Amino acid sequence: MKNIPTLVFATNNQHKIDEVSKILNNQFDIKTLKEIGCNEDIPETQPTIEGNALQKARYIFEKYGVDCFSEDTGLEVNVLGGAPGVLSARYAGEHGNAEKNMLKLLENLEGKTDRSAHFKTIIALIIGGKEYLFEGICEGNIRTEQSGGGGFGYDPIFEPVGYNQTFGELPSELKNKISHRAKATNLLRDFLLK
Ligand code: IMP
Repeated sequence: MKNIPTLVFATNNQHKIDEVSKILNNQFDIKTLKEIGCNEDIPETQPTIEGNALQKARYIFEKYGVDCFSEDTGLEVNVLGGAPGVLSARYAGEHGNAEKNMLKLLENLEGKTDRSAHFKTIIALIIGGKEYLFEGICEGNIRTEQSGGGGFGYDPIFEPVGYNQTFGELPSELKNKISHRAKATNLLRDFLLK
């Protein structure tokens, strides 16, 4: 086993920090951006989820010279040709307004019978100057209305395959076992520990 590495998680999203820290379960020394004195918004202007994940990690690596990882996530709805996808955070125009984003998605799916979708997470790791990508996909369906107040983002309208509750209703421990983010994070952990 390699030494337990110190890694900076290049995100300002506290939900992501909480989920990833729980999944990694103290096996790594994860530092937040605040802890390295970075208080700025990191650019994410690329046209793909992979591109945004890499852009965020490269920004921190180039500016602070530390081993780091970032993640970018999108919700891809099949009948909408993969939308909102890379635009998930600003689907309704205003960055990070989950309520408006969910409303817009529900409107765009009105009357549609195929409500299948998946979350896709890409983690970009930069360690020793080398770049690696890890992907996690979670298949599910979009409900016709919100249910549950747990999780964040689109969780109240996303029902993972095999369950009849949304991520907003399911316990966070379960989300952290089966989610897109859990799958990508487990790949990251396996890579770092091998
Ligand atoms: P980003 O990766 O922070 O750009 O997130 C893109 C969008 O997807 C944001 O609106 C997030 O709130 C949403 N999102 C990211 N991860 C999740 C999740 O695990 N569940 C529900 N929504 C999420």
